Amino acid sequence: INILGIETSCDDTGCAIINRNGKILSEVCHSQNLMHLRNGGIIPDIAQDLHRMHIEPTVTKTLEEAKLSMEDISAIAVTLKPGLPLSLVIGMKYAKHLGRRFNKPIIPIHHMQAHALVARMHHDIKFPFLVLLISGGHCLLAVVQDVDHFQLLGESMDCAPGEVFDKVARSMKLRNVPEYSTICGGQAVEAAASKATNPNMFKIALPLAEYRDCNFSFNGLKTSVMYHLYKKEQEHKIVAHELIPEVNDLCAAMLMATTRHLIHRTQRAMEFCKDNNLIPEDRKQLVVSGGVACNNYIFSALQMLCNETNYNIYRPFPKLCTDNGVMIAWNGLEKWRKGLDITTDFSTLDIEATSPIGESLIDKVK
Ligand code: ATP
Ligand code: FE
Repeated sequence: INILGIETSCDDTGCAIINRNGKILSEVCHSQNLMHLRNGGIIPDIAQDLHRMHIEPTVTKTLEEAKLSMEDISAIAVTLKPGLPLSLVIGMKYAKHLGRRFNKPIIPIHHMQAHALVARMHHDIKFPFLVLLISGGHCLLAVVQDVDHFQLLGESMDCAPGEVFDKVARSMKLRNVPEYSTICGGQAVEAAASKATNPNMFKIALPLAEYRDCNFSFNGLKTSVMYHLYKKEQEHKIVAHELIPEVNDLCAAMLMATTRHLIHRTQRAMEFCKDNNLIPEDRKQLVVSGGVACNNYIFSALQMLCNETNYNIYRPFPKLCTDNGVMIAWNGLEKWRKGLDITTDFSTLDIEATSPIGESLIDKVK
């Protein structure tokens, strides 16, 4: 058994092959990051053109590096939801093309489920487990009961933390610092924050402090950072390409506020799981994944929370936290093993821009 995984939900053209044991035989990822950094954000038409240009060479290279041909592939796993429609459609069309040409089944994959499940690839994590997904487009807490059974406890009511990191980094002009010029906003904010000397000079309120549910909100936090930035720019009479002198402190204040909010909600989710017997008391596991999980400040704060609550915490390797083909192939293998969603009738397969990760328990979380 070899599973080929294809990921094109956003701005990375990713492909990977894993074998029956979940060993990675090859992985190739073409990132559009630099192009989108130059444009100040993702322009869907441009993302689609780049996926169209890179999908075939990426898949071909993945097969070559694994020294396999399509004959050796058992099934094609491909992200169909959620994501940018113009991006998703390229992966779907190419998967269908390969499936028809080589007579292979397709396994449709939910991108956020793949972010969560990939943690099981290199760690011994049993169902059920609690997952915190923090990425460029999402922020959610869920209980993963099985490969195809997710229970949503809470999610962001506005924007996602990765998106806020990227926007704030752009407004602070971090890209004008040579060492930050080629990394994403989240990494730049983390690096700048590590050089802070007085992060407490900026006050940022804890979002949804008075609510006891598991939902998130990052809009207020973003507005607050933008306001502090504006005030400092006025104060120092900052011109075009200059950064404010307090940029490191503001990054740290923002990272700390984000972390406090994530911790607050995760703690709430742990209580809810306890009250409702969703997670067995003798095997409490928290998985944190998605691009923002690469952040070591956020991760160590979560580690501390888990220490206090007797949870074991797991995080995929950084490369597997951000978008990649491996997590799609892995989710494909998990479905293959259980005989889930494997299809040769491609007319039933279509993309979806938005799609809940699973049944919602949100109303019950009070
Ligand atoms: P989604 O998975 O919700 O559809 P996405 O696939 O675009 O969104 P990912 O690839 O999982 O998101 O993650 C990308 C995001 O992770 C970016 O917004 C980026 O700023 C953020 N990120 C990456 N590294 C770090 C870091 N060290 N600290 C904080 N954020 C980070
Ligand atoms: Fe993602």
